[in-house]
Amino acid sequence: MEFLTWLFASGDFTPHGYCYRWVQGLVWLHVVSDTLIFLAYMTIPFTLGYVVLRRKDLPFNWMFLCFGIFIVSCGLTHAMEVWNLWHAAYWLAGTLKAVTATASVGTAILLIQLVPQTLSLPSVSALHDANEALASQAKEVRASEARFRGILESAPDAMVIADAQGRIVLVNAETERLFGYRRDELVGQPVEILMPEQFREKHPQHRREYTAQPRRRSMDGLRGLRKDGTAVPLEIMLSPLESAEGILITATIRDITERKKSEELVKTVGELKRSNEELQQFAYFASHDLQEPLRMVSSYTQLLAKRYKGRLDADADEFIGYAVDGCNRMQRLIRDLLSFSRAGASGKAFQDISTENALNEGLKNLRTVIEESGAIVSHDLLPAITTDGTQLAQIFQNLVGNAIKYRSAAVPHVNVSATKNGGKEWIFSVRDNGMGIDPQYFERIFVLFQRLHGQKEFQGTGIGLAICKKIVEGLGGRIWVESQLGKGSTFYFALPERG
Ligand code: ADP
Repeated sequence: MEFLTWLFASGDFTPHGYCYRWVQGLVWLHVVSDTLIFLAYMTIPFTLGYVVLRRKDLPFNWMFLCFGIFIVSCGLTHAMEVWNLWHAAYWLAGTLKAVTATASVGTAILLIQLVPQTLSLPSVSALHDANEALASQAKEVRASEARFRGILESAPDAMVIADAQGRIVLVNAETERLFGYRRDELVGQPVEILMPEQFREKHPQHRREYTAQPRRRSMDGLRGLRKDGTAVPLEIMLSPLESAEGILITATIRDITERKKSEELVKTVGELKRSNEELQQFAYFASHDLQEPLRMVSSYTQLLAKRYKGRLDADADEFIGYAVDGCNRMQRLIRDLLSFSRAGASGKAFQDISTENALNEGLKNLRTVIEESGAIVSHDLLPAITTDGTQLAQIFQNLVGNAIKYRSAAVPHVNVSATKNGGKEWIFSVRDNGMGIDPQYFERIFVLFQRLHGQKEFQGTGIGLAICKKIVEGLGGRIWVESQLGKGSTFYFALPERG
């Protein structure tokens, strides 16, 4: 207390005003100037303090504190100047100056030490450049992220990215489509949500093994579970992905429903082909091997008929007649069956042939029928094509033969012609003026053994058109009929142009 009283006391000293001889102008010049300096010095630390508080990231902010102390003490020395105009607290003024000196010297030393660090600070333009580089890097990162998303979204396969704990991190649009979930229903869920119940329990163990030794791996014959509870056959490719958050596992998932179906189809077609071949062989051998014993039965029944007709009773004659008839029918049937099993299997290479010649070849075997019926068989200009001539002759023989067989009361007129269909195929037609066919039977008549008439009306086996169909399809074509009951029929068959 005593010290403070002494410090603030003027003692015997004369105030500064005396030095200025109390010249009003001079005194006030000092008062005003020192006061303004004091006030200015007092505001500067506040401004600095405000800046330091707001910009906590400023480097060397303790320097601002030193400057603050230094400036405040400078300000106080000026305040003392004003005070000492009238009072003479020179000890106090001196003490303040000592404090100011200490603060200024300290600040000056610190400032010198700070020079290398300050010089190493990046300049504003360097910071600006670095900022620009960062901005362009960020743009690049955004662009590549957009590209990655684009690729992910447009991928034809479902893609599910999961973390090492098996939580779904990312899915694409195809995943939503395939499994029927929205992506927000999947992200964050365990991948097991997409698996049928029976695989879920073991899967975490498999996942751990995979993450312990991650590598590309493809798996087939798996099943997925859709949101609606239905299963879907899948092929899955796993690949590890290193990321900042640790290892991620990318599963590329392909729906193989269609592939499975076509595999099944190929299998069924193969089986059908095999059983078809077996049947064909069976039909061939059966009809072939039956021919011989049948010939024997037939010739002996004919012999019986010839030798004993009228020598036994009437019943015996009738029975022998049935037996002969039955034998003949069976022979026809077996002969036709044999040609059916042979049809389309000639194995001959295609040749350039005249279809007119093929027609004439077919008509040769119909000579008797044509003569007996008085049929008129005509044809238009027929082309030369590349095909199997023997088989084509057989088609003509069957179709023209039928056209005469199933005639109406009128004299049979049969016309054969051919037109080109758009440059891809030749369409042949065999038109007659016969009895015609009810449209409901258009398909049926091409099936083996299907007949529209009894034996009493017209003899036949129901094999002729089936043979035509088999041959035409074997040649890569198709066959069909157009007809009106009572007005005649036109049988068409199209053969591909092979030239
Ligand atoms: P089939 O002549 O031995 O009975 P097809 O397979 O040649 O055997 O003919 C099947 C059936 O189609 C015949 O029974 C007949 O009813 C009918 N059909 C075939 N061609 C003609 C035709 N040109 N006009 C009328 N009906 C026909």
